[in-house]
Amino acid sequence: MSESFDVVVAGAGHNSLITAAYAARAGFRVLVLEGSERIGGDATSEPLTLPGFLHDSCASAHNLIQANPMLRKNELELGRYGLEYIRPDPVVAMPFLDGETLTMSLDVERTVAELARFSAHDANAYRTLLADWELMAPVVEDERANPPRLPSEVAARTEASPMGPAMERIRRSSALDVIAERFDEPHVRAFFAWMAFMTLEAIDEPGTGLLAFSLVAGRQRSSWTTPRGGSIRLPLALAAVIEEAGGTVMTSKPVQRILVEAGRAVGVETADGSHFEAKKAVVSTIHIKHLPGVVGERHLPDRFVESVGRWKPSIAMFVTHYALSEAPRFGAGHGRESVAMAALESIDELRALLADQRSGRIHLDEPVLLAITSSLVDPSRAPAGQHTFKVVTFVPYDLPGGPQRWDDLKAEVSAAIFDRLCRLSPNLSSRIVLAEHVESPLDMERRNPANWHGSCHGGAAAPEQSGYFRPAAGWSSYRMPIAGLYQTGACTHPGGSISGFPGRNCAAVLPSDLGSSLDDAVNAKRLAAKP
Ligand SMILES: Cc1cc2nc3c(=O)[nH]c(=O)nc-3n(C[C@H](O)[C@H](O)[C@H](O)COP(=O)(O)OP(=O)(O)OC[C@H]3O[C@@H](n4cnc5c(N)ncnc54)[C@H](O)[C@@H]3O)c2cc1C
Repeated sequence: MSESFDVVVAGAGHNSLITAAYAARAGFRVLVLEGSERIGGDATSEPLTLPGFLHDSCASAHNLIQANPMLRKNELELGRYGLEYIRPDPVVAMPFLDGETLTMSLDVERTVAELARFSAHDANAYRTLLADWELMAPVVEDERANPPRLPSEVAARTEASPMGPAMERIRRSSALDVIAERFDEPHVRAFFAWMAFMTLEAIDEPGTGLLAFSLVAGRQRSSWTTPRGGSIRLPLALAAVIEEAGGTVMTSKPVQRILVEAGRAVGVETADGSHFEAKKAVVSTIHIKHLPGVVGERHLPDRFVESVGRWKPSIAMFVTHYALSEAPRFGAGHGRESVAMAALESIDELRALLADQRSGRIHLDEPVLLAITSSLVDPSRAPAGQHTFKVVTFVPYDLPGGPQRWDDLKAEVSAAIFDRLCRLSPNLSSRIVLAEHVESPLDMERRNPANWHGSCHGGAAAPEQSGYFRPAAGWSSYRMPIAGLYQTGACTHPGGSISGFPGRNCAAVLPSDLGSSLDDAVNAKRLAAKP
C-alpha cells in the first residue's frame, strides 16, 4: 500500500462528496478518488460551446437538496465556500402551439390566478393539491432523510399520517391518474403531467402518485433553483470542506479494484496501479451494475449479485447545449422571461412518449421538452447580452440496432427538436445560435460511468428498485455485503437527482459504525482533521 487513509471514497459525485465531507468533519482522514478530470459527476459546469459560456452539462435545478438538513440547517456552512442559490421568478413557462402560455410564478397567488385563466375549477384544485402535499410532505421528507424502512413500516406510517388511507391510495396510484382526477382543462393537465414527469419515471404506472404533488410543490417553493456560477459550485464547496478538514480530493484516478482481505474492504487500486489503504472504510459511488466487477463477484453473496443483475435503467435524456446571441422568448408574461421552459401539448402526448419509450422508439412527433436559460438569472454564465441554452428531451438508450446508433442519429434528432422549439418562440432560430454541443444517452454514459445505460438517476425508481429494495433487498442501509464497504449515490435510497440525501444518509450510518456520529461532524464545525 502506498498511502494510508481512514476512509477512501471511490467517485466524487455530490452524494459521495457529502459523505466524505461529514466524515472529514468528524475527524477521519479522508481521500476521495474521482475517475474523470473534474469532480461533481452530473453536478458540473463546463465551457461546452465557446469560451465565456459556462454550461451545466447535466443538472441545473437543485430542488430536492433544499429540504436536506445539510442545507436547511446549514450543517456544513457551504455558503462559506461559495455556494449561493438563485430562485428564478417566473418558475417555468409552458407555451402551446395554439398560442396559449401557462406561466408558474414563485408567488402562489399569481400561479393560481394564471391557472384560473384556463379554469376556475383547476385553480381551486391547485390550492387543494398544495394543501394535501403539506399534510403528506413530512412523511415523505422523513423517509428521504433516513435509511429505508421495511415496506410494511412505510405503509403503516403512511396510513397513520394526517391524510390517512387517502395518502396510501395516492401512493399506489399513477401520477397521471391523480392529475386526470384532479384537473379538467387540457392545458392545465398537460402542465401538471409535464411537471410530474421531471424525474423521468413512467408516471402512467402505479406507485408514482406522489410525483403529482412533490415536484410541483417543490418548484412552487424553490423555483428552478440553481447555484450562482453553475452546478459545479456545489461539489466545489463540498471539496473545500473536505480539504479544510484535512482530507484529499484527487481527480483522474478511476478506481479499478476495491481490495478485499479476509472478507473486509481494505483499500482500492486505481487504473494507474496506485494502491490506497482504507483503515476503516471504503465508500463507493460506483454504479451498482459495475460494483461486482470492481469488488470481485466471489466476495459477494449470490442474492446480491442476482439482484444487481436484474437492475433496470430509467428513461434517458438527450441534451443539446447552445451558445446564443440573445435570449429565446417563450412568452412568459409579467415582463420577464422564464429560466425554464416546458413543452408538452397534452397528457396523451406524454402517454405516447412513454409507450414509445417501452418499444425503443424515439418520440419526435410532439416531443416533451425542457429548456433552460440559466444566464437569464446568472450573468456569470455567458458574455454580456449572450446566453447559455440547454434543451432536454427524453428518449430510450437502447435503439433497434443497438445504442451505438445514437452516434449516427444524434445530429438529426437535435435538429428536429430545435425546429419544434422554434415553433414556440418568436425569436428562436439558427440566426441566434453561435455554437452547439449535443449529447446522446450514449455520450452521457461516456461522460460519467454512473449514467449507466443513459440513466441519470442511477436506475428506475420502480417499486422493486425503491426504498428497502434500493440497491438490493437487505442491503439498502448503505452497508454493502462486505464489511467496511459502503455505497452511496443515485443507486441508493432515495435515488437520483441533486438531493444529497443518499450522501447524508450514508454519512449518518458510516461514522456511527466507526464510533462517531453525524452530530460529531456537525458540531466539529471548522475543526481541522484530528492528527
Ligand atoms: C442531462 C442531465 C440533467 C439532469 N438534470 C437534473 C436537474 O436539473 N436536477 C436534478 O435534481 N437532477 C438532475 N439530473 C440528475 C442528477 O444530476 C443525478 O441524479 C445526480 O447528479 C447523481 O449524483 P450522484 O452523487 O449519485 O453521482 P454522480 O453525479 O453520478 O457522480 C458519480 C461520480 O463517480 C465517478 N465514478 C464512477 N465510477 C468511478 C470509479 N470506478 N472510480 C472513480 N470515480 C468513479 C463518476 O465519474 C462521477 O463523477 C440530471 C442528470 C442528467 C444526466
